[in-house]
Amino acid sequence: MGKLSGKVAMVTGAARGLGKGIAEKLGKEGAQVVIVDLNEEACKEAVDSFREEGYRATSYTVNIANEDEVTKLFNNVTDEFGKIDILVNNAGINKDGTLHKMSVDQWQQVLDVNLTGTFLCTREAAVRMKERNEGRIISISSASWLGNFGQANYAASKAGVVGLTKTAARELAKNNITCNAICPGFIDTDMTRGVPDKVWDQMINKIPMGRAGAPSDVGNMIAFLASDEASYITGEVINVGGGMVI
Ligand code: NAD
Repeated sequence: MGKLSGKVAMVTGAARGLGKGIAEKLGKEGAQVVIVDLNEEACKEAVDSFREEGYRATSYTVNIANEDEVTKLFNNVTDEFGKIDILVNNAGINKDGTLHKMSVDQWQQVLDVNLTGTFLCTREAAVRMKERNEGRIISISSASWLGNFGQANYAASKAGVVGLTKTAARELAKNNITCNAICPGFIDTDMTRGVPDKVWDQMINKIPMGRAGAPSDVGNMIAFLASDEASYITGEVINVGGGMVI
């Protein structure tokens, strides 16, 4: 029996990349996994591959930046499974560019998904977790929240996720709901594979452990935070980056 047996875990942006790796780990630990993503086709493929591995998985095609869609999602998941024990706010996008060339649209799209989407899912989860007086909310920020060249929109959204997490942790602690943020460093996913080779090499050179992370490196930390073993840890911001931020 895994350490998350009997738990219902929702992971946003889980059709690929980091989210898929996180969902896989939670499934391996026995959780019923709910994959939430914009990409319907990729959702189906992820569910099929998880079921082939013997994990319990289902998916919902949802834009987490849309309030009505998110409310409906949480109502449907609660109807289907009776509860939500674990929420992992992972869905995120980047639209990089230097500040002086950044359009309002470029700024807003990133804020809408990374910060407003995380807020909407956190709010809906909090309402339902409070009723049961337990829950785990884990949000994916980024090492970039400290500021990163060409990422004013992304860094601002990820710093916002830290502020949101710490506030949620204070407000929900008395309801036995923990809220923590993870800052992955440089993880090998489609998002990072999109950078030019030169930038890839520069990033690896900044990592003391000398390699990009794997989605499972982040999944392992999340499985721990979601487990009973981490019941007294809340409001923390944890780097998983091979020493990229020390
Ligand atoms: P990715 O682009 O490979 O995957 C992101 C997933 O989110 C995709 O499946 C996409 O369809 C989904 N998504 C995007 N917008 C959505 C929306 N509005 N509603 C629902 N789903 C949506 O990215 P990734 O590298 O796996 O990153 C996942 C998260 O980790 C992001 O929040 C990212 O900012 C964060 N992060 C990644 C790294 C890294 O090195 N890869 C580092 C730090 C933080």
